[in-house]
Amino acid sequence: MRQLRTLIDDVLGVLEDVGKGRANPVAPGGPTAVRAYADDVLAEPLLPATGGGNPAEVLRKLVEAYANWSVDVSHPATVARMQCPPTAVAVAADLVAGALNQSMHAWEAGPFALELERRLIEDLATLVGYGADAGGTLTAGGSISNVMAMLIARDEAYRRRLGRSTFDSGLAVGGVRPVVLCTETVHFSVDRGASIAGIGADGIIRVPADDLGRMIPAEADRILRELPSDCLPVMLFVCAGSTDFGWVDPLPELARVAREHGVWLHADAAYGGGALFSERLRPLFDGLAEADSVTLDLHKFGWVPASAGVFLTRDAAMLDHLAVQQTSLNSPDDVAEGFVGRYGHSIQATRRCDALKIAATLRAYGRDGIGAMVDACHELSRYGAARVAREAKLQLAAEPVLSTVLFRYLPGDGSDLDAFNSSLRRQLMRDGHAMLARVFLPRPGGGKDVWLKLMLLNPDTTGEQLDQVIDDVLAAGAALEAAGRS
Ligand SMILES: *Cc1c(COP(=O)(O)O)cnc(C)c1O
Repeated sequence: MRQLRTLIDDVLGVLEDVGKGRANPVAPGGPTAVRAYADDVLAEPLLPATGGGNPAEVLRKLVEAYANWSVDVSHPATVARMQCPPTAVAVAADLVAGALNQSMHAWEAGPFALELERRLIEDLATLVGYGADAGGTLTAGGSISNVMAMLIARDEAYRRRLGRSTFDSGLAVGGVRPVVLCTETVHFSVDRGASIAGIGADGIIRVPADDLGRMIPAEADRILRELPSDCLPVMLFVCAGSTDFGWVDPLPELARVAREHGVWLHADAAYGGGALFSERLRPLFDGLAEADSVTLDLHKFGWVPASAGVFLTRDAAMLDHLAVQQTSLNSPDDVAEGFVGRYGHSIQATRRCDALKIAATLRAYGRDGIGAMVDACHELSRYGAARVAREAKLQLAAEPVLSTVLFRYLPGDGSDLDAFNSSLRRQLMRDGHAMLARVFLPRPGGGKDVWLKLMLLNPDTTGEQLDQVIDDVLAAGAALEAAGRS
């Protein structure tokens, strides 16, 4: 413990020093510069034949290099990915999770950690609106939660249609073809999930959406009605807070459709779920509790360092589809006496305790505290959108729903809008001035266009700071236009 305290003190000093010396979200020079820097500072092999180096020295050097070329997630111009600036209490808790190295897969690997996660899941299920029968698990992120949803929904669909367990028979039984319904613009983890679940890209049926991209319930109903009898609808995958626009598929209507057809309804609230903490935004998610399962990510809205994924099911018993396998980790005699870990309800075995950092943050800030942080990000996005709308050189894609601003730069010289905005983003990253996301949004009438996205997850960013980011975008756009003319 004494060595740990010294090392931590030491590296915190390094982080402070590096922080003092930086003004931008990232160092300048782009991929070439970071490669050259790494070639220099990592010249020695990472796996030397012989150890014996002074750990404090080794750590200081690595941490200094790591921090120098880290993206500053608390910088107002770091607005690309869903990386929140984590709370200090969560970071400290995460350190403890590492130091005590508990695991969630077996009782003997973390007795209290298991109790903590179980209770945390209960509270998060209540946040979603689920009742006492709900269950769930923490996961390594939204993608994994969505994959778990697909696996469980698939197994439940096969059990109901064929009375068989896919764990035993696989999918090549009964002559059925599993399919999943979702819109064109859901998160890409759906496609990967379909692959992992043995459904495949050809088994994804895209349901027509309205102008914003939201699923049209009547279309979902029609598709399910017209499905050939050898097709087995595994799930209706809907979005509760889309990654780009932030919209929510019409949950109550889709819940009705899913119920009528006896199809699993999964709501992906990986990003949007944080809005449940906000009194103001919560009504957008009315109907969420009617979903059979929900994905949340507290490393987005939630201010906890990654990973802090959450997978919830309205009926905890559904998780048993993952627990059919008998192993030394869940033998009935141990289970009967309470010596049971969470291996059976996860797709991981060894799994770190993410509950500690989440619980510490939720307890310290409370629902109202987190809600206020979500509201601050929402307000900031409205402020940024209003500013974009006033700029002649910028085009706003839509009014913010949660905390994104979608826009593009309009060069006056007739250059290709997609290529121009793509170059603009790369130039800002190369200069180290701003980290923005680029997204491909459906164009009315078909095809996709490039837009830029500000993903606002820092509640401490002020309007003036966001103005500065937009000023930098405008300046970089003007410079790119000038370069194109010369
Ligand atoms: C971020 C996100 C995911 C993926 O979550 P990861 O934690 O990055 O795996 C899935 N769905 C939506 C809607 C998201 O915004």
